[in-house]
Amino acid sequence: MTKKYDVVIIGAGPGGMTAALYASRSNLSVLMLDRGIYGGEMNNTGDIENYPGFELVTGPDLAEKMYASSTKFGAEYAYGNVSNVEDHGEYKLVQTDEGDYEAKTVVIASGAEHRHLGVKGEEEFSGMGVSYCAVCDAAFFRNSDVVVIGGGDSAIEEGLYLTQLVNKVTVIHRRDQLRAQQIIQKRAFANEKMEFVWNATVEEIVGETNKVTGVRYTDKETGEEHVVPASGVFIYVGIMPMTEQFKNLGITDDQGWIVTDEKMNTKVPGIFAIGDVRANQLRQIATAVGDGGVAGQQVYEYLINHDLL
Ligand code: NAP
Repeated sequence: MTKKYDVVIIGAGPGGMTAALYASRSNLSVLMLDRGIYGGEMNNTGDIENYPGFELVTGPDLAEKMYASSTKFGAEYAYGNVSNVEDHGEYKLVQTDEGDYEAKTVVIASGAEHRHLGVKGEEEFSGMGVSYCAVCDAAFFRNSDVVVIGGGDSAIEEGLYLTQLVNKVTVIHRRDQLRAQQIIQKRAFANEKMEFVWNATVEEIVGETNKVTGVRYTDKETGEEHVVPASGVFIYVGIMPMTEQFKNLGITDDQGWIVTDEKMNTKVPGIFAIGDVRANQLRQIATAVGDGGVAGQQVYEYLINHDLL
């Protein structure tokens, strides 16, 4: 039999967990689905220092604390890899590889995933030196030299995290200026273990059988090719929305991000979207949490206004 809920939340990152907290505290029946462990990108984040109330907290620790809050008023959490959402007006059918759920409302909080660079050697050495998660893999490169590719917040923050364990971090960036926030930049430039290669186009992750040995790049100014020796390569060249399974709803923009109004409504009544998956300028834990609070409350209003409670 298909289980029924007032709201099914797709994704248990900070946004999804906050929506669950607010909706369940309004006495709604709530199911949070995730295809991995709760916490989302927080699980791939070392130290967090820009979430109010915590001077310094690790991503996994904050995820645990948020999970405890989000389930405190009865919200359920289950594994579910969502393959499709069908809109049937008064109810939505959420299809997963473990079975289907019927929901009066749906909150999409599926987040974003790391973009791949698309160079030779990247797929070949994935898991054998190429990584997209410093927190998960840093320990494999203790006292070694590693490369970080990218110049945004993720690249520089995770590069700094890596300096705690590795011998040297070389950041290879395609421009001569970082995109990362100023405070992070300042710390990176002051860190003796960090070096920078500017105006560089990465051509290849080079290696031998089963292991990375370096990164080959072209200097955009001179056209010369160089190899930075490294046993690990951490790629942080931006993010892509995880919205493939929602394309049929017609709620995404031309790049795949979900468009909402300020109340987190998508174009489909009763379907909301929050956090990193939303077309938005700022993607932070604090903004995802804010979105989740709004969506949790709006779900309740929607159910009242449509006589669905
Ligand atoms: P991002 O801000 O989009 O930065 C991506 C970086 O990769 C940029 O420096 C970009 O270069 C570079 N890049 C993109 N495509 C490339 C390519 N094909 N080849 C080489 N370099 C390429 O992505 P992000 O750092 O993953 O951050 C994602 C979002 O999460 C952002 O909104 C960020 O602010 C947020 N975030 C916040 C925090 C925090 O507040 N502590 C931590 C992590 C992430 P250009 O600069 O030349 O475009």
